[in-house]
Amino acid sequence: MSKTNGAVRLTPADLEKVSVDELMRATRSLRQKSTYFTNWAGSYRCRARAIFKPNTERQVQQVVELTRRQQETLRCYGTGHSPSDLACTDGFMLNLDNMQEVLDIDQQSNVVTVQGGIKLHRLHPILERNGLAMSVMGSISDQSIAGAISTATHGTGIRFGNISTYVRSMTLVLADASIVTIDREHDAPLFMASLCGLGLTGVIIRVALQCEPMFHLRERVVEYDYSEMMGNLEASLDDKDRSTKGSLLEDNEHVKIHWFPHVDKALVTTMNRTREDRTPPPSTWAAIQARAIGYHWHQFGLFVATFLPLLLGYHAMIMWRFAFALPKDDHSKQPVSTRVGTPPEIFNMDCLFPQYTFEGVVPIENTADVLRELAQWYKEEDVKSGGLTHHFPVEIRFVEQDDIWLSPTYRMRGAYIGIMQYRPYGFPVPYKKLFASFEQLLVRHGGRSHWAKSHRTNKPALHKMYEHLDDFLEVRERVDPDNIFVNPYTRRHLFADVGEEVDMRRFKQNV
Ligand SMILES: Cc1cc2nc3c(=O)[nH]c(=O)nc-3n(C[C@H](O)[C@H](O)[C@H](O)COP(=O)(O)OP(=O)(O)OC[C@H]3O[C@@H](n4cnc5c(N)ncnc54)[C@H](O)[C@@H]3O)c2cc1C
Repeated sequence: MSKTNGAVRLTPADLEKVSVDELMRATRSLRQKSTYFTNWAGSYRCRARAIFKPNTERQVQQVVELTRRQQETLRCYGTGHSPSDLACTDGFMLNLDNMQEVLDIDQQSNVVTVQGGIKLHRLHPILERNGLAMSVMGSISDQSIAGAISTATHGTGIRFGNISTYVRSMTLVLADASIVTIDREHDAPLFMASLCGLGLTGVIIRVALQCEPMFHLRERVVEYDYSEMMGNLEASLDDKDRSTKGSLLEDNEHVKIHWFPHVDKALVTTMNRTREDRTPPPSTWAAIQARAIGYHWHQFGLFVATFLPLLLGYHAMIMWRFAFALPKDDHSKQPVSTRVGTPPEIFNMDCLFPQYTFEGVVPIENTADVLRELAQWYKEEDVKSGGLTHHFPVEIRFVEQDDIWLSPTYRMRGAYIGIMQYRPYGFPVPYKKLFASFEQLLVRHGGRSHWAKSHRTNKPALHKMYEHLDDFLEVRERVDPDNIFVNPYTRRHLFADVGEEVDMRRFKQNV
């Protein structure tokens, strides 16, 4: 047995000696009573043969060894936030909710080593107490670090890569239950595959994450007419000369756009590092009002519009007027809101109630063309009898390119464009045609789908999009020759398997 950071691990010699009975005994107490897994949106559900929640790295090894000996499959899940069957299986499942410790903080390099199961919302306050912060994050911090990395979860900022680009090294339990620590020097191919590995290369048990000294962000939200916003965006995209002032994307560290197609308006949010103090939170009364309209009224309005789609446009107008439109700023004569906060306070937002979402990334220079085509398409659907209804807003975020093999922003500075269809009170709403057409639109413009979302990209298309797809599959084959980490989603998209067993409807819930 070997010891690392106090954790007792199994060596290859230990693994050889251990019997299946011993493995069964050792992992019995780690089995959850319920064997059901449902994703956050409630849209996918599976019944696993067993769900294990290990407490130590040694126990992870035992679960993997048991899986191998019993010729089972094993799928990891984090928080189950992927709105697809990405984590679903009817084999074994493994979850690291009991492995959420921060193991090391290097104050010189600002590299923080954490266990793979740590949720980002648990990590943030620990970083803050140590004067550190993550440089970028997505709309929420509920994800586990391993889950966020496995799908290249992104935030926004054209000089900021997705979260995987901040990983300096990681430790995996491989399919043969051995433990390896990898980085750009040690087994670089496995590292480049695992940085967006879709759970296929092993169980991520440790991650060394590059952080930066704690900072505050000044958030400024400005309201625009749609055409004004497009003008601004196009000027920014044409702006090849990085020294030019007044460029939305170049002059601001983080930019996101929420476009409200029903009212032809957009909110443009810029977020920049500042030394200013945090703005006091809104009063309790203001928070209650915002919740009453922004959550409850919105949910009710969408519910009614599910049965009377013609009302959706009116609901959008009411929501715009009472929940989203900003107060006029006397100085600039433009509706503006500003505040200062910590990175999670500013980067994260309330994603309201369960929803279907689809998101993909297009080359940044194609952003305006895609939005123009989307606007035209929405207009056509709005006037067609029985046309597709679409909720709001459309979210547009910008991400720096990287060199991670399966990252959607591989060698492509991109604009992520996301659409959503809320499920008010859990009621189903139509979304399939809308998302399929939107996905085709993105692909026509050189786009790639977000791995976490339910998408239709098949292997030949993936081949065209990802020049390292074969390298990824070769590395995967090397570390998992018996395919213990595969599941229907990965078989369907990466192995070109077809049939009922891998059908995207297999784990789909009727919601
Ligand atoms: C409300 C909401 C907001 C979101 N906002 C954003 C956003 O702003 N930006 C963005 O890019 N995405 C966003 N997402 C998507 C989300 O970030 C990804 O789906 C992420 O992968 C979820 O992390 P998780 O811990 O829930 O992982 P899961 O969904 O449980 O799993 C995702 C993948 O990680 C693998 N995995 C999990 N743990 C391990 C492990 N220990 N070892 C190996 N593999 C593992 C699983 O096998 C699976 O392949 C959002 C999702 C929701 C529901």
